[in-house]
Amino acid sequence: MKINFRKTKILGKIADNKSEVDFLKSLFDAGVDVAWLNTAHQGEDDTKQVIERIRSVAPHMGIMIDTKGPEVRTKGVEEPFTVTAGEHVYFSGNTEYKKEGAVTIHVDYPNFHNEVPVGTVILYDDAIIGFTVVEKEGDALKCLVQNSGTIKKKKSINTPNVHIELPALTEKDKGFIRFCGTHNVEYIIHSFVRGKQDLMDIKEITDQFPGYKPFVVSKLENREGFDNVEEILDNSEGLMVARGDLGAEVPLKEMPFMQKKMVEAAIKKGKSCVVATQVLDSMIKNPRPTRAEVLDIANAILDGSGAVSMSGETAYGDYPIEATTLMGDVMSYTESKLEELTHYPHTPTVQTPEFEFAKQVVAKAKKAGAKAILAPVDNENLHIALSAWRPSCVAVVGSSSETLTRQLGLYYALRPMYLPEVTLGAMLANIDAGTFAADDVVTVVTALGEYKTVHFSELA
Ligand code: PGA
Repeated sequence: MKINFRKTKILGKIADNKSEVDFLKSLFDAGVDVAWLNTAHQGEDDTKQVIERIRSVAPHMGIMIDTKGPEVRTKGVEEPFTVTAGEHVYFSGNTEYKKEGAVTIHVDYPNFHNEVPVGTVILYDDAIIGFTVVEKEGDALKCLVQNSGTIKKKKSINTPNVHIELPALTEKDKGFIRFCGTHNVEYIIHSFVRGKQDLMDIKEITDQFPGYKPFVVSKLENREGFDNVEEILDNSEGLMVARGDLGAEVPLKEMPFMQKKMVEAAIKKGKSCVVATQVLDSMIKNPRPTRAEVLDIANAILDGSGAVSMSGETAYGDYPIEATTLMGDVMSYTESKLEELTHYPHTPTVQTPEFEFAKQVVAKAKKAGAKAILAPVDNENLHIALSAWRPSCVAVVGSSSETLTRQLGLYYALRPMYLPEVTLGAMLANIDAGTFAADDVVTVVTALGEYKTVHFSELA
């Protein structure tokens, strides 16, 4: 195995209509660590095909299935059409409704026009177009277009401060969760998680599949989710700061604060964390990013996030390989300067033997200037604890479970290795020749509570 010494992980969204094997291979070679599959735009058969392709290129890469939760999207838009600032348009959840002489925008929640009050601002596609509801008219909401733009199919609709009576799981979500159980998909990433109950609803379905233990990542994208971050983390393996919808749901000025507090909460509980959306947005169309985007990657790392994701950049952008390579480069450079830039005020507060021990290992590896921690110990709680203490070098961790090998790939600094028998000998035999020089220092964990720091040559 070739060891990548970058510690912060890269998630890339993969679209079914852009998932040819050659493309996936070049994307993964460029540095994507975890594949994120959006179910808003595809069915189960398309998803199965994408999974098969990913597994054929990278058998131990983690795959996340994104279930959409209580969200509203445009419906039935066959061809994109424009709306113009100052004109009136009609929003309706009734797909039969049509206003003569005006534009009607249909949405996929039938009761939408009954639950959204006059005065609400409706935001389209992460708030690129705004509409003010001026009047309810039959089965529709008459709205004033605030700014011109193009309406496309299946785009998100947000109504800040309006509680929509949608259940946590749609029928499509339930189907996809069962699909995950049937195909042993290692990650479910659920949208708009508002509290513990939403996660219980997922568990109720996954529990019906004996032996199936998915890791669940909660996308936090509204105020309710943010307010309940503690209980959400207690009931999932990690969180995503889903800034696209979040920025449409709460005032923009609050987002930097919210991002930092969410990352802090995840670190303290020893859970995984992803900062998402518009990170390299301009690279969807341009080969070079804006300066602010480069700073955004670095700042997410300085906040302590374990991973950063790309959406349109990899799903349909013109420069997916360039974006991935650039993201990896910015991450590696920033990691090399972390000592000068942060003092890591946030550390895990978890008190288990694994977390206590991992703290010592990470401190020792840092003090000794280790190039890597090698942990051929089949204990995922220890691996997650090593990651949570944010080591100064990568930790190559062994697992006899293919599913866990895939799951651990999301975590900061972990480079998981699948080993049917987890021994130091097997791990060393599996590391590409030339990865370590004889005098490189490594910290080797031999069992829970046992470790040594040696020159690589002493391991032979
Ligand atoms: P999405 O989630 O890409 O599925 O919309 C991320 C976000 O809202 O930021």
